[in-house]
Amino acid sequence: MEKRGLLIVISGFSGVGKGTVAKRLVKDYGYSLSVSATTRAPREGEVDGVDYYFKSEADFKNLIDYNGFIEYARYVDNYYGTPRMFVENELAAGRNVILEIEVQGALNIKRQYPDAVLIFIAAPTVTALKDRLIGRGTEKEAVVAKRMKRASEEAKEMENYEYIVINDELDVCVQNVHAIVISKRCELHQNLNFISETQEGFAQL
Ligand code: 5GP
Repeated sequence: MEKRGLLIVISGFSGVGKGTVAKRLVKDYGYSLSVSATTRAPREGEVDGVDYYFKSEADFKNLIDYNGFIEYARYVDNYYGTPRMFVENELAAGRNVILEIEVQGALNIKRQYPDAVLIFIAAPTVTALKDRLIGRGTEKEAVVAKRMKRASEEAKEMENYEYIVINDELDVCVQNVHAIVISKRCELHQNLNFISETQEGFAQL
């Protein structure tokens, strides 16, 4: 029997490089990546339907009313939500799905999908994080300050995660996340059907 896929929730401070980690997991290991909807304006280079589905607030609220999201949250003045259909279809097809979402969303997902793996990607130091956020050059000073403040709040939530992975070297970070997922898929309770099938196989000898 085809196993359902796993939900892998990746959170981390703004600017920590979690988007890059997620893209590498797709490229290197064939994970599916959920594209979120948001009311925030696109950054330069961001493409609708690839980075996000960019929505007006009215459209976003409409989707909430139609139960179109498995979770949504407000983050720094904008809404972000995970479209339901894609995630459900991919899990049913046995594929591992990455959600790159913030803390409130992660906890919400864990309540609905207890098998979901919650991974927090951290920077090696707070200074390294701030340097990266400034260095990215996509955010105005006030936004950087707002995101650092939000990050300091998120640091208090790190304890809600099951795994902390430091993104110092990208390759190592990607391999560590993949190792966590492999280990999760090998857990006893993820393999109960396989055990029954094996035992039945012996019974039929
Ligand atoms: P950004 O504006 O930098 O792209 O994203 C801001 C924050 O929103 C990030 O922490 C990102 O992980 C989070 N985020 C992106 N999509 C979703 C989503 O669908 N749901 C939730 N809860 N958070 C999201």
